Amino acid sequence: MLLDDIAPYVTPYYILPSLLALAALPLLRKATRSSPTFAAQTSAAMPDHTVVVLGAGFVGVAMAHHLLKHTPADVASLKVVLVAPNDALYWNVAAPRGFLPADDDKVDSAKGTPGFGDDKLFYPLAPLFAKYNASGAARFEQLVGRATRLDPDAQTVDVAIIGGTSSTTTTVAYDTLLVATGSDIVGGVPFKILSSGGTAETKAALAAYRAAIGAAKHIVVAGGGMTGVELAGELGSAYGKTKAIQLIVSEAAPLAVYGVKDGVQQQALGQLKGLGVTVVAGTRVAGTEVQGQKTVLTLEGKTSDTLATDVYIPAFGITFNTQFVPAKLLDTSATGKGRVRTRKTLQAEGYDNIFVAGDAANLQAPSLKNADDQVQVLSAQLQTYLKALAAKEPAALSEFPAGQGLVVAVSIGPGGGTGQVGSWRLFSFLLWVLKARFLGTNYAGEIAAGTRTPGNSKW
Ligand SMILES: Cc1cc2nc3c(=O)[nH]c(=O)nc-3n(C[C@H](O)[C@H](O)[C@H](O)COP(=O)(O)OP(=O)(O)OC[C@H]3O[C@@H](n4cnc5c(N)ncnc54)[C@H](O)[C@@H]3O)c2cc1C
Repeated sequence: MLLDDIAPYVTPYYILPSLLALAALPLLRKATRSSPTFAAQTSAAMPDHTVVVLGAGFVGVAMAHHLLKHTPADVASLKVVLVAPNDALYWNVAAPRGFLPADDDKVDSAKGTPGFGDDKLFYPLAPLFAKYNASGAARFEQLVGRATRLDPDAQTVDVAIIGGTSSTTTTVAYDTLLVATGSDIVGGVPFKILSSGGTAETKAALAAYRAAIGAAKHIVVAGGGMTGVELAGELGSAYGKTKAIQLIVSEAAPLAVYGVKDGVQQQALGQLKGLGVTVVAGTRVAGTEVQGQKTVLTLEGKTSDTLATDVYIPAFGITFNTQFVPAKLLDTSATGKGRVRTRKTLQAEGYDNIFVAGDAANLQAPSLKNADDQVQVLSAQLQTYLKALAAKEPAALSEFPAGQGLVVAVSIGPGGGTGQVGSWRLFSFLLWVLKARFLGTNYAGEIAAGTRTPGNSKW
């Protein structure tokens, strides 16, 4: 249809409001960004029920997919809003190999080049969720930003939007909330999405480490837990014969922090030594100072000295991303460490419409395995909950059997590793088969696409 065709029917009476609306569009957009009903206003059709998912780590991504794939239309016209600073899933389990220089073409075998490139670590989410908005549906919305304040009584979350030229905060309304904001490693090292940025900043930080590690002659990793041991193992495997690699461990031996058997600790020590890593046990890094091209570490404990290195990587300490949650919902005990007080139904204490899972919940030790176990129960739980709401009946929710058993599986280089399940020590070959070869990069893309979880191939 040409403009001439419609012109006879367009009188000035109709044109004026249209022009005013056009002129007001930027203002309307701005108002929408700061409106308390952001989610509802930006959808094409008003949803019956808005689920806001905070966090796009394993839990948030898996649950957002599951809700969109499995909630029957007669239960709820559902909208899912995914809020996270990262617009790509960061497969952080593989991060220890992601610190090493990479050749993107041949990184997924033990015999390939040492590092994982960004293509193995980051999985952009928008294309993987686009299917839910096919044919003009508006069932899914991605908000790249960080939750800064939760008001559980008003059922709103304030979100600081990432990107753009000016800082914007918007308020998102929810019917049901899932808190899946996980954890960070202390020190701003990109083992997780950086707390000071999003995907781009995390990729840039990793790239800087790859460049520095490639050029270094001397590298120090601090931390005797899984992250430190795995990173030292990767560095030893790639550079043990050509660079000096040291691992500083405050406990008596690597992995002792988990209370694993002495045999497992000694196996870790032996494997690291075999890869050319020098383990300095019973010692902690008490201070750091940059002097020219070097970082000078002050060591305290069994070894009290200073140590100059080209690259220092702190890989210890965990904090939980719950700063936006009101204090009354947090477990501030020594073991809770500020995580959300979570009932066995995977609901927050006192609020039936707030669900919590993964590292942010205070039910179990933070691990992908535990998060996966929780998500299997939570996925069914949310369907029961939504059906009961639709039927205006009380929801009969089951209880998550939060196991506290010891499960530690640590890769030490791409060729194997060690670990313990219950009282059983794991053989290095088993670690190679189950973990060390690929560090989960062989299925991370499927998790991002919502077709599986680590332990469930039918999602
Ligand atoms: C290097 C490393 C290796 C690991 N290897 C293993 C392993 O081999 N096996 C194992 O079982 N476990 C492993 N873990 C632990 C495992 O990664 C975590 O337990 C798992 O990632 C938890 O998933 P999650 O979704 O709960 O949280 P996270 O993965 O921490 O994801 C949290 C999400 O929330 C976002 N977020 C943070 N703050 C906010 C906010 N205020 N608002 C909105 N979004 C926010 C984050 O950006 C992220 O998207 C490893 C951890 C590290 C660091």
